[in-house]
Amino acid sequence: MSTSIQAIRGMNDLLPSQSPLWHYLEERFARIVAAYGYSEIRTPVLEETRLFKRAVGEVTDIVEKEMYTFDDRNGESLTLRPELTAGTVRAGIEHGLLYNQTQKLWYFGQAFRYERPQKGRYRQFHQFGVEVFGYDGPDIEAEILLMVWRLWKELGIADRIRLEINSIGSNAARAVYRELLVAYFSQFPEQLDEDSKRRLHANPLRILDSKNPEMQALIEGAPKLIDHLDEESRVHFEALKAHLRAAGLDFVVNPRLVRGLDYYNRTVFEWTTEALGAQGTVCAGGRYDGLVEQLGGKPTPGVGFGMGAERVVALLEQIDLSGKLPGGADVYVVAAGERAEGHALVLAESLRDALPALRLLSNLGGGNFKKQMKRADASGARLALVLGEDELATGRIAIKFLREERAQETVALTELSVRLRELLV
Ligand code: ATP
Ligand code: MG
Repeated sequence: MSTSIQAIRGMNDLLPSQSPLWHYLEERFARIVAAYGYSEIRTPVLEETRLFKRAVGEVTDIVEKEMYTFDDRNGESLTLRPELTAGTVRAGIEHGLLYNQTQKLWYFGQAFRYERPQKGRYRQFHQFGVEVFGYDGPDIEAEILLMVWRLWKELGIADRIRLEINSIGSNAARAVYRELLVAYFSQFPEQLDEDSKRRLHANPLRILDSKNPEMQALIEGAPKLIDHLDEESRVHFEALKAHLRAAGLDFVVNPRLVRGLDYYNRTVFEWTTEALGAQGTVCAGGRYDGLVEQLGGKPTPGVGFGMGAERVVALLEQIDLSGKLPGGADVYVVAAGERAEGHALVLAESLRDALPALRLLSNLGGGNFKKQMKRADASGARLALVLGEDELATGRIAIKFLREERAQETVALTELSVRLRELLV
């Protein structure tokens, strides 16, 4: 006997029982970003490896140890995208979407990272995100954050997510700070873990992003970038905070927040929750004014975020969504007798013509009346339409209410679609 084949570890099937919740989230996200003027972009799942090396940065967790990279048949190195910003920027430059104009783009798609699978951390996962190009002020950052806040409120999870923001300044300010950081960490070589030792000279800021609990006390004592900001970044950050306060969005300034990708400057942010255990970052992003140029475009300011869809779904699973998720069928057509069966399929088609949004299930595979009514009940439909020999003879049909104490009705077949429309609004 052959053994059955299973999905790759850390890569999940989306089962029919879960898809209504995902549709609900996708629909809400798409609706809100459209209301703020965003257009959707879809880019390939595979890109040239050097795109991510250049965009995300060589000395990052993602590029150093999390990418699915392989050689194509012609020897070209390709990578399954670990995030969607790099591909979006690549596409924007390639199709001339960024130069001398503004763009508000959104996306939803898979990302792939070779990580240790655990709750909230998978090897294939999904990100919602936006990328905005051509705006260099704090107002767009505030608008993006308010838009995400609106999503949390609409989904009913705003009470369990909080916003952390920070500014990592200009490249020049970071270069100065970097020296301070190297000097600080160099005092404690024996307390640095392997990753941090390696990063001490290559990318010391990344040490601040370490998740190693044993490093936290040392990191806590390090100089703070926010105390060494350039004047312009400081003013920019103050203006962002003022916008958020004016709109009533609470936030915490977290001076340790540096983000794990190299492309950010000035504003960075994370939305975090305590309701999901260790994997508490639900949405993360910031400003990346140098990225477009770094990938070969003209200098263009950019801001964006990526939101972990699995983590938002996990939050939604904790709250009561009854009445919000689409149910099953509206109507189940029961056909008693051979002659009725033939008519039932035709009747179903005419109802679909008249009521395109109707969710209608026809009884398939025969069965006696009792059995068909059982199936109608199990389908979740609100109404059963019963077509039998008598009904055919009189040109009328019975409507049975499956979910409420209510006497059945009979209506003329010619009146049926009108009556169903009334009953189902
Ligand atoms: P983390 O700190 O959890 O590793 P990250 O900083 O690596 O996150 P980003 O690259 O900023 O994450 O990705 C944006 C969002 O995508 C994260 O905030 C998280 O919600 C989600 N995410 C990242 N990696 C995974 C994963 N392996 N599985 C599920 N969701 C993920
Ligand atoms: Mg990570």
